[in-house]
Amino acid sequence: MPNRPYVVGNWKMNGSRAMLAEARAIDRAAGRYPDVQVALAPPFTMIGAIREAVSAMGVGGQDCHFQAKGAHTGDVSASMLVDSGADFVILGHSERRKDHGESDQLVRAKAEAAVAAGLGVIVCVGETLEERDAGGAESVVSGQVDGSLPQGENIGDAVAGGRVSVAYEPVWAIGTGRVADVPDVVAMHAAIRARIIALYGENGQKVRILYGGSVNAGNAADLLSAAGVDGALVGGASLTADAFLPIIAAAGNGEA
Ligand code: PEP
Repeated sequence: MPNRPYVVGNWKMNGSRAMLAEARAIDRAAGRYPDVQVALAPPFTMIGAIREAVSAMGVGGQDCHFQAKGAHTGDVSASMLVDSGADFVILGHSERRKDHGESDQLVRAKAEAAVAAGLGVIVCVGETLEERDAGGAESVVSGQVDGSLPQGENIGDAVAGGRVSVAYEPVWAIGTGRVADVPDVVAMHAAIRARIIALYGENGQKVRILYGGSVNAGNAADLLSAAGVDGALVGGASLTADAFLPIIAAAGNGEA
């Protein structure tokens, strides 16, 4: 069911073994909403422990190197993520693009390595406030989609199998409490879908486009029911089951 809604928690650089109880509670909620694909991306250090603690939800990384192994101190490869129990990876998050200078070209190389290793990928794109105010949101994000999404021979099966997703995350909405207006989200998702179809052809309909940026219990239903929104990438509100469950429930059209 590649097109069921996809709700993914990004724990960023938060989380310790003390939070395993939260992961278990989120997993129980995932079991109650089989029509929603739920996943969590904890820090690398917790992937193995969470994998062993859960059964209904996906577990993923927040980055990987584009090479399989070698002299890259501090980095983790896609196959290492698989080995630790991950089934997907978030790539090109704006915090990585900003803090680590990641270019579209690098994000694409990582995405291709991740797909080759058997991981699902969530490629993040999004404009800054300056770019939006200058009227450039659509062209900036279209360029990121063209430059960052995986391409090449092996990608068709991953796309057809729903293992390639895009997260539209306006940079100014991440962690700020300032959420994008629904009509703007709809317009951006339509522009992103057009670029995806240009890249992958009709198979590109299988690519889910998630919205990310200050999603919470109060705004999730409006965002997740908007045209072209196939799920959510959630940061702060994924850190506790109490905050995350209503978002999963909204994706499943139900009560928490
Ligand atoms: C994110 O980390 O991708 C994100 C969208 O964060 P937040 O939900 O906290 O804005």
